[in-house]
Amino acid sequence: MMADVVQNLAEIRGKIRESALRANRNPGEITLIAVTKYVDVARIEEAIAAGVGHIAENRVQEGVRKFPLLSGNVVKHLIGTLQTNKVKAALEHFDLIHSVDRPALVEELAKQADKLQKQVKFLIQLNISGELTKHGLSPNELPGFMENLKAYPRLIPCGLMTMAPLTEEPETTRPIFRRLRELFEEIAATGDFPEWRYLSMGMSQDYPIAVEEGANLLRIGSAVFK
Ligand SMILES: *Cc1c(COP(=O)(O)O)cnc(C)c1O
Repeated sequence: MMADVVQNLAEIRGKIRESALRANRNPGEITLIAVTKYVDVARIEEAIAAGVGHIAENRVQEGVRKFPLLSGNVVKHLIGTLQTNKVKAALEHFDLIHSVDRPALVEELAKQADKLQKQVKFLIQLNISGELTKHGLSPNELPGFMENLKAYPRLIPCGLMTMAPLTEEPETTRPIFRRLRELFEEIAATGDFPEWRYLSMGMSQDYPIAVEEGANLLRIGSAVFK
């Protein structure tokens, strides 16, 4: 099994590199996050041994259960929908939340950040495709949402995240990634958010396209652990 994860990672890293070079990007600025929601601690350890420094879970409880069992030191990302009653646990166990998608969640994050007296870094999830099954703000809600964030000094927005629709044809996701990139640049241009730097997009089926369109955080699960 060890060889599988090692080999899968080598293949993925090779493709990231190719896509980056095609787009005149530095491959070194792109972080592979291994999505570990499908696998147990032993397989996470294999990935860490193979050089993975970032992992992600989509449910808070899974992180709470697995992370204390890990021996390696990794950055932990939360990529699934966050319920307000799990915010406290999320802040205790995760380093970066990718899925901030509504004002009520912002308020709870601010409340818990004040209690813990710590800054909270997070990404804002957008629903570009408009699919009803997807979480996330619509693009036209973003400016008002960002403006509101300025009221909370402990909340540090660091970028945007989106999930493209599952599709047989990866190229249909390109306009979605491109749109996220444009929205990212618009917020960056305001200069209002000094830690604005992450564009989280691209999964197993479409990460090469996401890299070409500017992603710097890739969330890859099944391609790593297949
Ligand atoms: C599961 C998941 C991924 C990874 O999906 P794969 O297709 O297995 O790479 C990425 N992002 C989110 C939000 C997920 O829930």
